Amino acid sequence: MPAMARGPDRSPSAPADVDPFLAALCATVHGVKGADPLTPVTVVAPSAYAALFARRALGAGSGPGGRRGIANVNCTTADKLIGQLGGPVLAARGMRRAPAAVDLEAIRTRAIATGGWLAELVAHPRGLLALREAVAELRRCPAPTLAALARRRGRIGDLARQCHAVRDHLHERGFADPVDLVEAAEAAVTATSGALDALGPVLVLDAGALTPAEHALLDLVVAKTGATSAARMVGAGVQAGSLTEVRPCADPDEEVRAAVRSVVASVDAGIPSWAQAIFHPPGTGYARALRQELTAAGVAVNGPETRGLDRSVAGACLIGLLELAGSDWGRQQVVAWLSTAPIVTGRDRRRVPASRWDSLSAQAGVVRGAAQWGERLSTLAARHPDDAAEAGALSRLLDDLVIATVAPAGSWSTHASWAAGLLDRYLDRDRASWPVDEHAAIEQVRAAVLALGELDAVSDRVEFAAFGRALSATLEETVLDTTELPHGGFGDGVFVAPFRHARGLRFEGVVLVGMADALVPGGIGDDSLLPEDIRRLDIAGGLRTHMARLDELHDDVVASVGAGTTRRVATYPRVDPRTGRAQMPSRWMTSLTGVGTRWRPVDSFAAGISSANPPVSVAELELHDAARWAADGNDPALSPLALSSGRLRTGITASRSRIGCDFTRFDGNVGVGRVSPFIADAPMSATRLEVYAKCPRRFLYDRVLGISKRTLPEDIWQMEPPERGTLVHTILEEYLLERLAGAPRSLPRLLDVAEAQFTIAEGRGLVGKPLLWRMDKAAMRRDLARFHDEEGDLEPLAAELEFGTGVDGADPAVTVTLDDGREVRFKGKADRVDRARSGELVVSDYKTGKQTMLSSLRKDPVAGGRLLQLPIYAMAAQARFGGETVRARYWLLSEKRVAPCFSVTITDQVQARFLAVLGLIAGGVEAGAFPGAPTERLGDRQFDTCRTCDFDGVCPTTRDRQWARKSGAGGAAPVLALMEAEVPDDVGDCVTDGFDDDTEGVR
Ligand code: SF4
Repeated sequence: MPAMARGPDRSPSAPADVDPFLAALCATVHGVKGADPLTPVTVVAPSAYAALFARRALGAGSGPGGRRGIANVNCTTADKLIGQLGGPVLAARGMRRAPAAVDLEAIRTRAIATGGWLAELVAHPRGLLALREAVAELRRCPAPTLAALARRRGRIGDLARQCHAVRDHLHERGFADPVDLVEAAEAAVTATSGALDALGPVLVLDAGALTPAEHALLDLVVAKTGATSAARMVGAGVQAGSLTEVRPCADPDEEVRAAVRSVVASVDAGIPSWAQAIFHPPGTGYARALRQELTAAGVAVNGPETRGLDRSVAGACLIGLLELAGSDWGRQQVVAWLSTAPIVTGRDRRRVPASRWDSLSAQAGVVRGAAQWGERLSTLAARHPDDAAEAGALSRLLDDLVIATVAPAGSWSTHASWAAGLLDRYLDRDRASWPVDEHAAIEQVRAAVLALGELDAVSDRVEFAAFGRALSATLEETVLDTTELPHGGFGDGVFVAPFRHARGLRFEGVVLVGMADALVPGGIGDDSLLPEDIRRLDIAGGLRTHMARLDELHDDVVASVGAGTTRRVATYPRVDPRTGRAQMPSRWMTSLTGVGTRWRPVDSFAAGISSANPPVSVAELELHDAARWAADGNDPALSPLALSSGRLRTGITASRSRIGCDFTRFDGNVGVGRVSPFIADAPMSATRLEVYAKCPRRFLYDRVLGISKRTLPEDIWQMEPPERGTLVHTILEEYLLERLAGAPRSLPRLLDVAEAQFTIAEGRGLVGKPLLWRMDKAAMRRDLARFHDEEGDLEPLAAELEFGTGVDGADPAVTVTLDDGREVRFKGKADRVDRARSGELVVSDYKTGKQTMLSSLRKDPVAGGRLLQLPIYAMAAQARFGGETVRARYWLLSEKRVAPCFSVTITDQVQARFLAVLGLIAGGVEAGAFPGAPTERLGDRQFDTCRTCDFDGVCPTTRDRQWARKSGAGGAAPVLALMEAEVPDDVGDCVTDGFDDDTEGVR
């Protein structure tokens, strides 16, 4: 990547003595060590990152006499120190700190035991998490305050008593809560056991957000270990500089790009990526976007993981499987699960082909229900032997899943082992095919699941639903631990983290994103469980008021700015993309900026690309180069990068072509002869060419490229019209074949055939919702009765007369010779051929549905090419059965039909019109002209027909304006000729609508 090819070659441990904060840290530590460099010293940092940073800085810093390095310094966090001091005291009492899952289960169990609103609250997973937050907040209160709250009536009294009940519940089972741990640490500090001896003087780098009790404990530790008061808060007097630059951006996406460009510009200016950080508001939105953009730019990233285990492949796979266990095995849900992870099946642990099985199950018409999977897949296997093996494998996996996901009754540990077993059974764990972080996640997910077994200590029994909720919550809250992975550790690339992680860190360059007032500070809403008036009652500050939380965030933001020693940049989005409302910079920006702050807006993506900042990806580099070239008055298509990059040149050409008047390859001009209707050994169907006459682009998409709309069985409310047409055709074909074999006309027999075919259609999942299917069946029975009535005493000669599909000369194709001598060969199936009383051949094509479009036959027997079947079927029947005159007709079967029948007598006039239109269509196809231009015009509303086209969502919304511009171009002439071809006068006289008793023998 261009970005990372630059930059200085410095190591992350390079000394930074110039920073007054680090200088103060080194000086303070050396000061408390005095003459003995081996004196132990403990430095308490606000986070694990800050502790690691302090250790590295002390190692690289200078001591008295310019000596580098320092010995016997323990850099830790307040949490770890309290655990170190209190842990042994708890152990001596036979207790240990409750893991998070145990604590959560204790809260849930006690709430259920208490009943009332608390039990209702924890019935919902989010309610349980809200209660846990409230309990955690109440645990910050001093004991007398909590006791006073517990004496109150109402919700706050219930909550405070709940806090005590949970604590007792944990104590009875040998677990301690965070309050116990602090009390135990305090006992260790006040006892004369020598617990503090190994610590040496304790220095606090930054206290961070501690509870009042933790603050008091830390003060006690510092005082007891003998650090002088001047040394207790290291670097507290060091002033943070103000922002060096503010970049108002068009929106958050542009903001993220601007932040990444700023990082890359700093690398160019000599600041390595490990000496830079990007801080963002709380939440994962910015974190994910930043990580994505930095990764795309080839810049390594480190910092707190934003991904919970639930978002890892293994976590999502297990959660999805447990959700399936309680479901009705809906097709979409099963298919979604198959795609979440590499799933294996069978003894040979074969990888499941997820997308193949998706289309297979859709083809089988599976919607939901464990039994339906087996039934419909075996029906599919019987119809399509080529798919039988895969259908069988899918069916077996479903059977296996249904049995394996039956949860065991009993304890948490039983459930945990069962869930871990499911993961082992269905997840392909072949290390070679997994990214390293995902492979690490498998073990972490397994460990988190098995840890749920510990909950046996706090509740005896668990139901499946509660287990599933606990598992989801645990995986959601446990972030993926990447510390053991070879890449991505602190110091490897840019540090990306929320503002609160800036405390105690130093970088040469920092960028603060999201500095809009709506985000920083944003709206801190009232808490329904612990409202503001209750929080104000705790004068010790344990319950943090709105103002206290604002102060905390403000301190974090100030710390983020202060973390930058050289470059301090802030960005904010000027518009909220969700609401479109303008956004103001953060109210704190005034105090963070000064006379030296530069304001440099980024107006848009184009402005960002054109700016002097270096591009951060290859695509951006190409656009940047083209923009600069254009700004100098040159043609961007001739910029150096456009000349060397095929995709940039193609992009520029495509944009220009689409707005121009020429008919180009980007508008459907694919070139002469690429698609040909004249291939002798590849006859085509009449309907194929009819599609070209409806819209050439539709022909290209549907008939040349084979793109089709995917109908999913679960989306079918009512049988689709094409399926209904096929069903009616199948019924009539079977009935007519029996008649051709000598059976008499019989309505009961016709209806029997229909019932058998209805059952087959149901088995294939094609029929939609039961009520609508009942209505459809009733309508089809009526249609068939009418058909029987209208059939009269015609003498059937053939059912489904095939042509152009046989081998070795059987069923020869219909060959049509055009006026220019070229031949178009057709294949197809005429639904039936009869002989009328008059001796005339009658060819019928059944049509279901209303068929409004057939009305256009009244003016033109081929409807401008959109209806070509009848002349071709007539030729096929004549070729098979001979005869002077042929009558071809569309026989409309539906009660909603526009007419009972449209008959065309194939006269010379009709034949001439057919040949003329066929010639135009064949010419258009041969010329490779496929513009988006429906030929049918409903008044002036040519493009109204697009509404019923499957490609309506794919074609550009400006298709009408594009065609208006391009219809005059030479390449589009064949299409225009087809649209504007004159229909000869009186040719419509050869068409009649309605049955003719004399020739057709009806009633
Ligand atoms: S949406 Fe309209 S222009 Fe596009 S392929 Fe369909 S009919 Fe043609």
